[in-house]
Amino acid sequence: MISAPCTPCLSPDCSRPERSIKKTADAAGSKQNRVDTNMPQRRQVIFFLATIFVLVLAAFLFVGRGEKTVKGEKIRVVTTFLPIYVFTKNVTGDLAEVENLLPPGAGPHEYSFTPGDVQKISRADVLVMNGLGAEAWAAGVIKESGTMAKIIDASVSVPVRLRKGTPDPHIWLSPTLVQMMVANIAAGLAAADPKNAAGYQSNAEVYLKKIQKLADDYDFYLESPAIKRTDFIAFHAAFGYFAERFGLIERAVIEEFPGKEPGAKYLAGVVDLIRREKVRALFSEPQFSPKVLETVAKETGLRVRQLDTAETGPLLPDTYELIMRKNLETLIEALSE
Ligand SMILES: [Zn+2]
Repeated sequence: MISAPCTPCLSPDCSRPERSIKKTADAAGSKQNRVDTNMPQRRQVIFFLATIFVLVLAAFLFVGRGEKTVKGEKIRVVTTFLPIYVFTKNVTGDLAEVENLLPPGAGPHEYSFTPGDVQKISRADVLVMNGLGAEAWAAGVIKESGTMAKIIDASVSVPVRLRKGTPDPHIWLSPTLVQMMVANIAAGLAAADPKNAAGYQSNAEVYLKKIQKLADDYDFYLESPAIKRTDFIAFHAAFGYFAERFGLIERAVIEEFPGKEPGAKYLAGVVDLIRREKVRALFSEPQFSPKVLETVAKETGLRVRQLDTAETGPLLPDTYELIMRKNLETLIEALSE
């Protein structure tokens, strides 16, 4: 347990008064691999939300494809993987039929689409994607299905980080960027299904507030005097945007490329770095066997904890918040040691 400034209640229903503490520009500015922005994320969000009306109009222009819904019928929306499903479901509520492509245990990086996926997309009115290369398999399934669905790219206008020269797709792990994604999804759905535009917008506003509360709680607890360190080792390179948002430092990852077993030489380098930099937080993911991590843990004496990338999980509207709140508990524990 930590000695946080008030009782650490991490429930989404917690009514503790909010205390939002902004990270300094210095903390955010110290991260590596950042591209194309010098503005703090929050300023960008304010700017982004202020221009949402323009985006709705733009969405009419850019996603205008087939119209096949009958008046009064719910539109059929297909999402790609867990966080996209969760954000979309929170925007639609009961106003649309939402179906996810990837089964609950399958992550986006190594996925191969199935004939069932082709069928789902061929029937869809709208396809919602993360974008930024998270769904490398999507182009194939879209082509094969011949779908006329409107495509919503949730990453439009999000400030992109590069990893080894390519866009890092893990934007859903920064709650601030999630607010942009939700706004994009709401604007795209409003354009695709104008009769329910007001409903999508009001549902989105409710969810945006929940996400803001989540971000505020992270700020509150990670600013606690109990937090002694800010750096960590992750299993795969998923926490770049997350670390940037919360002033944390991802020192290294165990799996250099998603789905690829790290070599002995690479792992020895990570062990050296942990010793040299005195890193104390080592995270696995619920989706992966921690065998390789056990080797690193044994060599360094560190305890392995799980930090969930929210790439898989139950297809329920509150899954993202639950995962992120569990991650906050884990972080508080690991960073206050
Ligand atoms: Zn990932």
